[in-house]
Amino acid sequence: MTRHPTPEVLISEVGPRDGLQSVQATMATADKLRWIDALAAAGLREIEVASFVPAQRLPQMADAAQVVQHALRHTGVRIMALVPNVRGAQAALVAGAQKLTLPVSASPAHSMANVRKTPEAMVAEVRAVLRLRDEMAPGVPVEVGMSTAFGCTLQGLVPEDDVLRLAVQLAEAGIDEIGLSDTTGMGNPAQVSRLFKALQREIGALAGAAHMHNTRGLGLANCLAAYDAGVRTFDSSLGGLGGCPYAPGASGNVVTEDLVFMFEAMGVSTGIDLDKLMAAREPLETGLPGEPLYGMTPEAGLPKGWSNR
Ligand code: ZN
Repeated sequence: MTRHPTPEVLISEVGPRDGLQSVQATMATADKLRWIDALAAAGLREIEVASFVPAQRLPQMADAAQVVQHALRHTGVRIMALVPNVRGAQAALVAGAQKLTLPVSASPAHSMANVRKTPEAMVAEVRAVLRLRDEMAPGVPVEVGMSTAFGCTLQGLVPEDDVLRLAVQLAEAGIDEIGLSDTTGMGNPAQVSRLFKALQREIGALAGAAHMHNTRGLGLANCLAAYDAGVRTFDSSLGGLGGCPYAPGASGNVVTEDLVFMFEAMGVSTGIDLDKLMAAREPLETGLPGEPLYGMTPEAGLPKGWSNR
């Protein structure tokens, strides 16, 4: 095992959650578990494995508790779950999730469409989740991924002041970390740099992950801009699984394989073995036959002389 002792960036794999919830097909539980095992074997240290939402809303996530329980065997990997509310948080904590993430939209229109609550009502929900966490599992960090922070398909532009004000409210509520999500792939590198720097000025060390989508091909450029702005946690999805329903044919999250290649080629260690990472596409392809997978690095292969660092 040539895992770097102290990777400089944390790649948080969100495919089993963000990816799977965006596709029509439902992946069989056994295939999900094989996929997660392969991701862990590649050296990923954080995997968002499921979303604890009502099964009638997202049948793809009906096995969330089982998936979390299985994934916990991978010591050294932090098992994350998305929870939209207190009820989901309770189920996730009972299942043993080691980190929770809540979606809070900066755009009121997206917030209503996604969780049927205003951003203000979601801040109250976050407070309630934090109280529950304090009772049930005080060691479990809770983060907010702020959706539509760089623009919203429904609302259009999202004022940066709205993003920062919401971040301050969440910090005051006691959240452990706030990341910014480009849910609809509208962000650009200048904006990403400006907004993450402003976020750090407002909430300091609570500023968290960059969650970029590749809808318009700017996913990697946006990640690099975030890295230059001081961000060290990046969400991405194997094979860029997923997509935006408003942009047919567009790829979804930034591709984990390409993101790892970029950082490793720059000499920024990720702790991830690229060969094993690309091998993790096999269980994904098997579990979701016919689903298009993206990624330039898997297509081109690793350059001659490449060695895992
Ligand atoms: Zn996303």
